[in-house]
Amino acid sequence: MIKRVRGKIRGIVQGVGFRPFIYQLASRYGLSGFVINTSDGVTLEIEGADGHIDSFFKDIIRDCPPLAYISSIEREYISPKYEKGFQIEESKRGDERSTLISPDVCVCEDCIREMMDPFDRRYRYPFINCTNCGPRYTIIMDIPYDRENTTMKKFKMCKLCKEEYEDPQNRRFHAQPNACPKCGPEVTLWNNKREKLNCDDPILKAKELIKKGAILAIKGLGGFHLAVDAKNHKAVVRLRKRKRREEKPFAIMVRDIEDAKGIAHLSHEEEKILTSKERPIVLLRKRKGNPLSSEVSPKNRYFGIMLPYTPIHYLLLEKRGDIFVMTSGNITDEPINIDNDDAFRNLKDIADYFLIHNRDIYLRSDDSVVTFMGGKLRQIRRSRGYVPVPIFLSERLRGLPLVLALGGELKNTICLIKDGKAFLSQHVGDMENLETFQFFLLTIRHMSRILDITPELLVYDMHPDYLTTQYAKEQTDIPTVAVQHHHAHLVSCLAENGISGPVIGITLDGTGYGTDGNIWGGEVLVGDALRFRRRAHFEYVPLPGGDSAIRYPWKSAISYLYKAFESDLLNLNIPLFKRISKRDTEVVLKMIQRDINCYPTSSCGRLFDAIAAILGLRHRVSYEGQAPMELEMISDEDIKDHYEFGLEKEGDRYLIKISDLIRAVVEDVQKGIGPSVIAKRFHNSIIEIFKLLCVILRDEEGINRVALSGGVFQNRIIFENLSLKLQQEGFEVITHSLVPTNDGGLSLGQAIVGGLRFKEGLI
Ligand code: ZN
Ligand code: ZN
Ligand code: FE
Repeated sequence: MIKRVRGKIRGIVQGVGFRPFIYQLASRYGLSGFVINTSDGVTLEIEGADGHIDSFFKDIIRDCPPLAYISSIEREYISPKYEKGFQIEESKRGDERSTLISPDVCVCEDCIREMMDPFDRRYRYPFINCTNCGPRYTIIMDIPYDRENTTMKKFKMCKLCKEEYEDPQNRRFHAQPNACPKCGPEVTLWNNKREKLNCDDPILKAKELIKKGAILAIKGLGGFHLAVDAKNHKAVVRLRKRKRREEKPFAIMVRDIEDAKGIAHLSHEEEKILTSKERPIVLLRKRKGNPLSSEVSPKNRYFGIMLPYTPIHYLLLEKRGDIFVMTSGNITDEPINIDNDDAFRNLKDIADYFLIHNRDIYLRSDDSVVTFMGGKLRQIRRSRGYVPVPIFLSERLRGLPLVLALGGELKNTICLIKDGKAFLSQHVGDMENLETFQFFLLTIRHMSRILDITPELLVYDMHPDYLTTQYAKEQTDIPTVAVQHHHAHLVSCLAENGISGPVIGITLDGTGYGTDGNIWGGEVLVGDALRFRRRAHFEYVPLPGGDSAIRYPWKSAISYLYKAFESDLLNLNIPLFKRISKRDTEVVLKMIQRDINCYPTSSCGRLFDAIAAILGLRHRVSYEGQAPMELEMISDEDIKDHYEFGLEKEGDRYLIKISDLIRAVVEDVQKGIGPSVIAKRFHNSIIEIFKLLCVILRDEEGINRVALSGGVFQNRIIFENLSLKLQQEGFEVITHSLVPTNDGGLSLGQAIVGGLRFKEGLI
């Protein structure tokens, strides 16, 4: 019996070769009908034998194309039309526009093979792509995803490309960025005076220049990179100087897994992440005696390594053993450059040459950074390759209003919620300058447009001085709600795990504005997505100069030392005082004693800073989190014991007393015990403190679930050991994996807390 079915498929189904796939499937079962892209996915009608229709729908799920993600399929029977053949119809613009867009993915193997084939018409063509690969999110200006709505609009396809594009049997059927050397974008090489270099093969020439020690600005997928030969120490040092980036590790690109194994240790899982289609930067443990410049990743046990992901990268890294630094092409602290004119203006004093092209990047997207810890991939910076794939929310979190959450001040991302899905933006950056703020505004506009969301609620952090807060206060036509920083961290962790609570939430980070107006950062909260109680925290220590002390760990050290020794701290014989003059010490000491410009803090990050400074590791930092990172890196893994600490109960709240801890550290220093032993004992102490608090709170609250969130959990020693110890105590431990544990994941938690409160009528 002949039946006709209308199906609606939602998910990531556009620009991923979905319609040709449907076409081929329909042909296989001899079904007639059509398929069309609509603004909320794909609609199809098929007609044929009932049994074939069933198999057809089963195959859709089983064999769907590599970049597709199906979130729902609806089907209904309609009357047959008795037509012949199957058509792919032109898409039209609908009113509803909630199609999911694919992230940018690395060039596929089929395309690489063609690119390396001297008889192929795209031989060595650096913009080769197909429906299974290439740019997406960064070139889309609007939906539906058609060539007209991408930055490929300005290139008119030649006859051959057009034929491929229109042939449903072809791998490039409706591949929107389809191009060839005849009709598509091209690369050119320039010097920093913006004079074009005449050469047959700009990429080959660029590679030669890098090998000679030059710094190249290279336009990529989501922005510019600055590239140098990672084995050329002088070149790496020059790049550091010119970029004014003192010590923060540089990412590197290697040709393949084999070359990665030459410089770093790789587990099977790490290998899989490195070669995944998202192609993130993966933190991998350095191999001793590797041939790279020590300035690539100083004072760090890890390299940030990625594999090539665009055709240009493949052509640049053709030769085995070539390893290039590929760091974001920006002036430190500013967003990565995407526009040719901007790049020439901003990077001319850094780069010697520019390898650029004329395919515009519409939306900037940095390289993602991930690490593998405790059996899972962990996001550190979630951007290119992952965005805009949503976080799918659990049942209880459906039916929230359309929410826009603005994120925090550092590592900013925004988050939009619609239809049970949370869309986190790409990494926006530290909101410390106008450029980043502009990018923040663009990201809000762009994501709202391509997701077709007009927010009904605006959520922001409680900190009165954040730019995001000022932005929220200026929006008068929409309800707004502020969410506490650490509550947002905690709920971010719950949301990505589909858990609604209640839990014991250990949230450890550098800084976040508390409900009492103090700077929090070492908190144990008990609560769920709606509310929380603060059950434990580090005792307050006055932070001289407030958050400005972040750059000067020595100031934190004076404050923590004062807590333990009062004015006697001046007589201590510790490495810190070999670096900081007595005069400077006394100035800060006076600020603390007289309570001038001091802000009470329970920060965990500042405690790490203080220890690093006391040990003489670092009294000043050049990037956020540097002192704790170095403290982690020198820790002697064989040391198992820890320092004593005190707990004091105040009302229903536990205060973690740090004086004993500081005294014990200083005692070890004076005994001449090495910093790597002390550093590890300190780490062990933090682990013991929070494990003990969980055990106490489990008794009091009857809760057996612990969630870990906040930037401190990027610290491998703390993360792995605390998770393990808690599990040994019988706790269920909830951790971040899909979104960063640092402030990059904050907007997700904000969106959920705000949206849920709004839904429950609490706003
Ligand atoms: Zn391809
Ligand atoms: Zn062409
Ligand atoms: Fe935070």
